[in-house]
Amino acid sequence: MVAPTLTQPLPRERDVAAAVAPSIWQDLVAQPLGRTITERFADDTVRGIVATDGLIGTFVSMDDASLAQNRCFLYHLMGNGTGEWRVPVGGMGAVTDALAKAAALAGATLVTGAEVTSVSTGAHGAEVRWRTAEGEQGATARHVLSGVAPWTMAGLLGDEATRPAKPAGSQLKLNLLLERLPMLRSGVDPRVAFSGTMHLSEGWCDLQLAYEEALAGEVPQRPPGEVYCHSLTDPSILEDLAPMGVHTLTYFGLHMPEELFTGPDGEANRVTAVQRAIASIDEHLTGSILDCVALDADDKLCLEAKFPHDVEAELAMPGGHIFHGDLDWPWAPNRAKLETPAERWGVATPYDAVLMCGSGARRGGAVSGLGGHNAAQAVLEAR
Ligand SMILES: Cc1cc2nc3c(=O)[nH]c(=O)nc-3n(C[C@H](O)[C@H](O)[C@H](O)COP(=O)(O)OP(=O)(O)OC[C@H]3O[C@@H](n4cnc5c(N)ncnc54)[C@H](O)[C@@H]3O)c2cc1C
Repeated sequence: MVAPTLTQPLPRERDVAAAVAPSIWQDLVAQPLGRTITERFADDTVRGIVATDGLIGTFVSMDDASLAQNRCFLYHLMGNGTGEWRVPVGGMGAVTDALAKAAALAGATLVTGAEVTSVSTGAHGAEVRWRTAEGEQGATARHVLSGVAPWTMAGLLGDEATRPAKPAGSQLKLNLLLERLPMLRSGVDPRVAFSGTMHLSEGWCDLQLAYEEALAGEVPQRPPGEVYCHSLTDPSILEDLAPMGVHTLTYFGLHMPEELFTGPDGEANRVTAVQRAIASIDEHLTGSILDCVALDADDKLCLEAKFPHDVEAELAMPGGHIFHGDLDWPWAPNRAKLETPAERWGVATPYDAVLMCGSGARRGGAVSGLGGHNAAQAVLEAR
């Protein structure tokens, strides 16, 4: 019911509620998802596997009163109207290349390697100033569509009064290049086991224990996480390496809040977290995954570990939060003011000339393109 509304002006909460069975609304929106899952499923593994979609990039207990876990769950399951996850053929670079090509064909001027240093608004639009190796420049426009996080944008606008709290990420990402796929203790064909999502230490009790350990300032003993082998689905991402039988493996670890890795024990915790994540993969293998990792030209393992502050340093996602901040419900509260096109499309900021077009838009979380689509619609409507 929700998916078709995502590319339309925001529905009101009451309209969505009226369109679904009251029991579904109660289970998914009104009460903590943890309660729904424990009422509905008995098995610890099944409960945990259902729950993980509520905890990707979201550091809460499944019973949290904020319902952040319910919102995260909804976003993960409503894609394409079925919850089907897809990977872009050619990798994410193919998506951005296609966008760049379409923009250039439409006459856009693309400026890369530029750091926006300020945005200021006036009666008829906004001025963006940026810095490149060649120096500083600026441009004015009636509308500025921003793909940076709301926290970042408020900083560029110099608006501390409306600046949201800085987001904080909670994930560990490991990227590995494998010479070969590992063998599983169960004897299952690794090409079957590693296609789709492989869940590790993500039983119901594992998830809650890991949350409590992390909350208490400890790296979880058995960190919950999941691995994806994108090259099994789309070998084209390997380009010249594909015929050599190598594979990419990527691990997404839950409940790894950034403060574990930035405090006095940060460095030691980083080492521990990587070791424990590897151990959680190894639990299911005949040997260690490290024996399958390719070596680079300097004989170093092709394994990179990215903690939230690495994501912030490299990608400027504040706090390394993967959604630029916790997700909102994909509808407007019943009493929300929906007067301007930007408000109606869920892309408004406190400034008429500045619109959110990325993950920070109301329905923008993750790689959906919805923030951009909806900001474009708001601009068209405002013309
Ligand atoms: C480890 C990890 C795993 C993820 N896994 C998934 C997944 O499996 N599926 C999924 O859908 N989503 C996933 N996400 C989330 C997804 O990557 C983001 O939601 C998405 O990238 C948001 O896109 P965006 O264009 O809104 O923002 P971003 O991709 O953050 O782009 C904003 C851009 O603005 C730039 N920028 C910031 N400040 C400035 C400035 N002052 N001047 C100039 N440029 C600036 C940044 O460098 C960045 O390039 C993941 C994220 C992470 C970190």
